[in-house]
Amino acid sequence: MSLRYGLQARFLGMMALALVVVLTLMALLWSRQEGSQGEVENVSREAMDSMSNASLRRRGEGMVTQLAEALANPVYYFDLDAMGVMARAALRQPGIGYITVYDAEGKVLHDGSEEIVGYGTRMDDPLAFEVISARQLHMQWSEDILDVSAPILIGNERIGGVRVGFDLVEARRYQDSAVADLRTRLDDLGRRQLGWIALLSVALVALGGLVLWLVQRWLVQPIGQLADMARTIESGQFETAHAIESNRNDEVGDLMRAFSRMSDSLTRHNREIRRMAYTDALTGLGNRLQFREVLDQRLLQLRGAGRQLALLFADIDDFKRVNDTLGHDAGDEVLLQFANRIRESVERLGGEGAELARFGGDEFVILVQGDDVRRSASRLADALVAELGQPIRVHDRQVFLGTSVGITLFPEDASGATALMKNGDIAMYQAKVAGKNCYRFYSRAMDQAVERRVHLEQELRGAWDRGELSLVYQPVYRLEDGAMVGAEALLRWRHPEQGMIAPSVFIEVAEQSGLIETLGPQVLRAACRDAMKWQAIRPHGEPLFVSVNVSPRQLRSGDLPQEVAESLAATGLAADRLHIELTETAVLGDELHASNLLTRLQSTGVKVWLDDFGTGFSGLSHLRRVPVDGVKIDRSFIADVMRDPDDLALTTAIIAMAHSLGITVVAEGVEKEGQYAILRERGCDLAQGYWLGHPVAMEEFVTLLR
Ligand code: C2E
Ligand code: MG
Ligand code: MG
Repeated sequence: MSLRYGLQARFLGMMALALVVVLTLMALLWSRQEGSQGEVENVSREAMDSMSNASLRRRGEGMVTQLAEALANPVYYFDLDAMGVMARAALRQPGIGYITVYDAEGKVLHDGSEEIVGYGTRMDDPLAFEVISARQLHMQWSEDILDVSAPILIGNERIGGVRVGFDLVEARRYQDSAVADLRTRLDDLGRRQLGWIALLSVALVALGGLVLWLVQRWLVQPIGQLADMARTIESGQFETAHAIESNRNDEVGDLMRAFSRMSDSLTRHNREIRRMAYTDALTGLGNRLQFREVLDQRLLQLRGAGRQLALLFADIDDFKRVNDTLGHDAGDEVLLQFANRIRESVERLGGEGAELARFGGDEFVILVQGDDVRRSASRLADALVAELGQPIRVHDRQVFLGTSVGITLFPEDASGATALMKNGDIAMYQAKVAGKNCYRFYSRAMDQAVERRVHLEQELRGAWDRGELSLVYQPVYRLEDGAMVGAEALLRWRHPEQGMIAPSVFIEVAEQSGLIETLGPQVLRAACRDAMKWQAIRPHGEPLFVSVNVSPRQLRSGDLPQEVAESLAATGLAADRLHIELTETAVLGDELHASNLLTRLQSTGVKVWLDDFGTGFSGLSHLRRVPVDGVKIDRSFIADVMRDPDDLALTTAIIAMAHSLGITVVAEGVEKEGQYAILRERGCDLAQGYWLGHPVAMEEFVTLLR
């Protein structure tokens, strides 16, 4: 307990004050009692005095009057014997000091003794004068003696007198002893009272102690306990207050129970909030925050133990396509199924202490621990890639998606959580760059790759103006008669240091950075300008068309019809000689918006083709709803058309379906004669590919034409 003026101290103070007041009162009572004892003594002494005086006076009066009457005759006849008898009888009585019988002149006649020493002498003691001159009963008080005298009369004549001395000393001694007796009894009484007071005080002190103890037990202690609990709750430990157990049936008990209930509900709320803050609502997996805490904790444990750990970053390839084409509900469904597959794989292969979390979007992170983490991580990554590559059924459709996995190791690659997570991200990105649907371990060289990408974006910015970007043209042939009918414009970047960079690398950079919105119109204009130069050369009668790739971003901006119109007007190219290639996903993102734009484009006479057809999820029925003039069957189908009967069936179906809708079918990526033959046999309209002709620069293309 701290040294402050607390509840207990206050009670102690109050008790002490009450004790002091009571003790003072008792002391006062005691001193009053002492005083009144003295008074009682005095009063009783006075009462006794006056009582004994009165009785002495009465006794003296009676005795002397009696004596005076009895002595009348003996004095008259001068009978000394009779006088002696009477005097001696009187002297024998207690408390009588002397007796003197005297004649009319005051001379002693008898004093009760045998020899009568003073006989005949006149009385001359200090009281004698009044005695002699008194004519009736007379009393005189001196220090030790009450002198009572009375004349002896015969008729009216005074013939003498008698005086008796009553001894006062004796009476006083008796009185003193009575007072002393009273005094001892009073003292006794006082002592008894003092005893009571002392006993009362002790009882009072004991009562105070008891009250203090009870206050301590009933109030101070529980309140202190509650204060301690409140402090621990304040510091964020909610569970500790369960320790309060009280079955007291009073207000403090109520308070303690309320406190305990409050702590319970705080604990519950806290747990709920933590759960909400730490889990991903869609999949029920832990989220980034939770994973970060676990990772920090594991690193702390492992660092000292010299053990290893691996982080796997798994990202679904082209997941955006699912959201764009099938809607967000389907996207959620896909994520859920992926999460379940990943969870199963982790349970099967992750080993002890494996952790799985969703980092938001389509990114999952797995922590693996063990002795040979490199091996167990690659085994798990293998399983993930294989497992997640299996088709998923969503809303009655089969969806093919892949996963790219990046792996980073502790302590090999980095020792801090932040650096590890960054590495995992980089490795995952590299898996994407390497063609997706695979896994990559982090290496320091990857850091440079990421830097290169940032660098690339900066360099791409001014590349067109510096003349580093150019267009190449790949011829497109009619299968029916093998005539060259047009060419696809493909962008190339000749980097001053790195040489040729493929569009698969820089087009994505341009799209993500928004550069494509300035680059696209420039490509369009250049392609139209180049195409104008071939218009005069007509190897098969009609002029060649040029087809230009347009990115989804350009379509979304809504300026495309105007840009096309401007390019045509500026170069003078006929509208029907220009073909626009759009990817399926660009069109499917917002069907209504896209349909409007496409209708506007077509109204100017420009043809619209769907590029990479078959890789999205649109299906053939979709073609009915989007106004396009042609589809380009993706080269992945063409590649297998000779081996895979499914691909052949699909290709055949696309051709038949397109033709029934009056749509042109183009096959891209024709690399072998066999492919060409099959496509031709199935009635495909147009084809392009390395077997027919590689993309070549403008000048080369013109020579080819001639
Ligand atoms: P894409 O529109 O499907 O273009 C066809 C791609 O297939 C070209 O790749 C071409 O060189 C390649 N190719 C042609 N014949 C064959 C063959 O027989 N076998 C194989 N394996 N490949 C063949 P490239 O030039 O690397 O372009 C890749 C993609 O970049 C294009 O695919 C297109 O989507 C995009 N792209 C190219 N130029 C532009 C552009 O100016 N603007 C936009 N937005 N995208 C462009
Ligand atoms: Mg194309
Ligand atoms: Mg294509």
